[in-house]
This record gives sequence, structure tokens and C-alpha cells, in this order.
Amino acid sequence: MATDESLNPFVIAQKQLDEAAEKLGLDDGTRQFLRWPMREFIVTLPVRMDDGKFQIFRGYRVQYNNARGPTKGGLRWHPDETIDTVRALAAWMTWKTAVVDIPLGGSKGGVTCSPKGMSEGEKERLARAYIRQVGRILGLTKDVPAPDVYTNPQIMAWMMDEYETIVQENHPGVITGKPIPVGGSEGRGDATARGGVYIVREACKVKDISPSETTYAVQGFGNAGQFAATLHPGILGGGKLVAASDSSGGVYNSNGMDPKKLVEYKQSNGRVSDFPESEPISNDDLLELDVDILYPAALENAIRADNAPGIKAKIICELANGPTTPEADNILFENGIYCLPDFLANAGGVTVSYFEQVQNSYNFYWQLEEVHKMLDTKMTKAFHSVYEMYERHKMGMRSAAYMVAVARVAEACKLRGWV
Ligand code: NAD
Repeated sequence: MATDESLNPFVIAQKQLDEAAEKLGLDDGTRQFLRWPMREFIVTLPVRMDDGKFQIFRGYRVQYNNARGPTKGGLRWHPDETIDTVRALAAWMTWKTAVVDIPLGGSKGGVTCSPKGMSEGEKERLARAYIRQVGRILGLTKDVPAPDVYTNPQIMAWMMDEYETIVQENHPGVITGKPIPVGGSEGRGDATARGGVYIVREACKVKDISPSETTYAVQGFGNAGQFAATLHPGILGGGKLVAASDSSGGVYNSNGMDPKKLVEYKQSNGRVSDFPESEPISNDDLLELDVDILYPAALENAIRADNAPGIKAKIICELANGPTTPEADNILFENGIYCLPDFLANAGGVTVSYFEQVQNSYNFYWQLEEVHKMLDTKMTKAFHSVYEMYERHKMGMRSAAYMVAVARVAEACKLRGWV
């Protein structure tokens, strides 16, 4: 792998911003301002563990930019969490909320910890300790967290409860991704994949691909990947799942596999491999299949300079965050592969989180159909605004999405008189 592929994520985020700013011709003051978070908050959290001893955790909250509205971004609990990963993720949230044009800014938070080794009680005490420190900079009009890697709806519920206990008021909108009985939204569970499949439908239209006849492969048959597999035929009016993989390996059938049966198989066996009526396929071979649509839905850096030249899919829908390295991205562009970039393709999750905040604000909850309809409208409009930029400048969809997003944030900063 080239050295520039293993850079600090915040350096990559700044480089991506620099490129968009250059293409947009932004003035130097605006560029410098958008290169850095507006506010960073670092806390030290003492938590009593089950053995009675205290463990001290480092926690972060980075509010990158709130020119377009209160900031929003998930909370990661991960052993490798650093201020720079949080800064990068907060920058990407700023561009993600802007590209789907929801009236929010971007932020991110995290705690450096190993949640796999923690009991439920320890997790609850850590969640509450985080809110006792960070709660003062959160709120529906300030900054609203959500789940991310190794955090979940239960952790969101504890955090909301701690916040409400401190302020002695009902504030469900202080956090999203909550369980439905305590103010969560219908349709949040599959929103990321659903949003991605909606824009694949739009991409097929502009690329003259018949949606109902598409073949597709899913790399990473987890939460996002399973939903993409099952939603694809319904939203596109057909389509054939020819391959899927998880960390145990992959399965392939050129005649197609029933996505619902594959989900059931994965849920009962914990893996996709050995699914009946399929043959094994390696993760590397899956990526190079001649399919219409490839959904990378596993981890970052799945598509790199070494395997990008072999990719034959017509459209890549990046449900995972950062599945394509910058070098691979250039190769895909030169080879005419149409790549729907992560911060557009997986923005369905934050869009429904925003709907959750709205419902919490007026204390009235929508039916599932309403959520789907609004999500479709938002994603479809976002796709077409990026597509228009792509057509106008003959650039990759990732660069086009950056230009749309950065221009919107820069305009809001200017209108406020900040730069
Ligand atoms: P998950 O843990 O449920 O699923 C990940 C899957 O990838 C697992 O099945 C795992 O076995 C598989 N995997 C791991 N390494 C692999 C490899 N080398 N090859 C093939 N498969 C491999 O996670 P998720 O929530 O579905 O998230 C997946 C990606 O989507 C992440 O990048 C995440 O940041 C992104 N994402 C998810 C959401 C969401 O709402 N779930 C929202 C935005 C972005």
C-alpha cells in the first residue's frame, strides 16, 4: 500500500477539503476556517468497574461546523479512538449533512475504550459519566449525538436518561438512534442501506442501466449489507444477488440467491459461507465480479490501489465508511467506474436521525411509510444535485459531492459574516 494511503484520517480529511476549496475557488480565509473544527472538548472519565476499582477513560466531542444548524454526529467507543479520528469523522459529518441538505452541522464523539471486554453495567456507567461531562455542550439546539461503532440504541437511552436527570426536563431530542419506546423513529434500522439503494435506482436511470435486470454483490453481510441485499429488488423492481461475503468468506451463484433466505441463514449460522445452492468465493474475487452494482458494506480500505484495476462493476455504492482509498478512487475514475461516495451513499442513516430529532421536537411521530417517502425525496434530490455537478465539471462523483457540500457550508459561513 502506498504511504499516502495510511495517513492520519484528519490529514486526509483536510486534503479532501483543500481539493474541493481549490476547485470552488474559495478565498483563503474560508479555506483556513473550514480546515479545522470550531470547537473541541476533551474529558477524563472515572468509572467504577465491576471489580470495584476505578478505570479512567478519555472522551472526546468535536463540533466541526454549525453554520448550517446544530451539529450532529455519532459516538464511537473504540480502543484506537484519538482526537484526530474524531476530528476527521466530524469533518465528514459536516459534508454529509450538507450534501443531503438537512439543516444541521457536523460533529463526532468518542471514548477510547474496549467495549467488547466491558459488562452492561460498566457500559451504562461509562455512558452516564460521558453525559455528566459532555452534556453541557449537547442539546437539540446545540449538538445531538447518535450511535456509531460499538455504541447502540440502549447506550443512547442511558445517555438520554442521564441528560434528562441532570436538567430535570424531558429532552428526547438530545440524542438519536434511541429505541422506539423512548422516542426513536420508525425506519431508522434500515435507513442507511435504504438511502443507498434509492440512489442506486437514480444512478441506473442516468447510466441507462435497466434497474430490474441488475446483478449485484454485497461485500460485508452485516447490518448495512443485509438490508441492502433485501431492499435492492423491491426498490429497483428486480435484480439478482449473485454474491455476498462476510469475514468468514463469500458465497456465489450466477443464477442469483434469495436475499431473505441468505439473511435467515446468516442469522442462524452466524456466517454466509456454505449457504445451500451456492459456491464459495473469496472476498477478493467477489470485488472483481462483473456485476452491475457492488455494495462495499464491510470496513474501510476494501478497495485499494492493488485491487482497484480488477474491479468491473458498473456502479459502486459505498455503504461502508471509507471503503475506497484515495489512490484506488483515481483508478476507478480512470476506468469509468461510477462510484457513489460514502458520505452521500450512506447518508440515509443521519437523514432519518434528523427525522427523529424533528419528531422529538414536536412530540408527534410519523408512520413508517411517511419516513420512507421523506427519505426517498431527500436522497433522490441529493443524488441529482451531485450528478449535476459531476456532469458540469466532468469529475468523479466524490469530488462532485465534496464541491456541493463544501459550497453549501462556505455559503452559510459567509452569510453569517464569519469569513
Ligand atoms: P456490521 O459489523 O454489522 O457489518 C460488517 C460486516 O462486514 C460483518 O458481517 C463482517 O463479518 C463483515 N466483514 C468484516 N471484514 C470483512 C472482509 N474483509 N470482507 C468481507 N466482509 C467483512 O457493521 P455495519 O453497521 O453494517 O457497518 C458496515 C459499514 O457501514 C461500516 O463502514 C459503517 O461505518 C458503515 N455505516 C453503517 C451505518 C449503519 O447504520 N449501520 C451507517 C453509516 C455507515
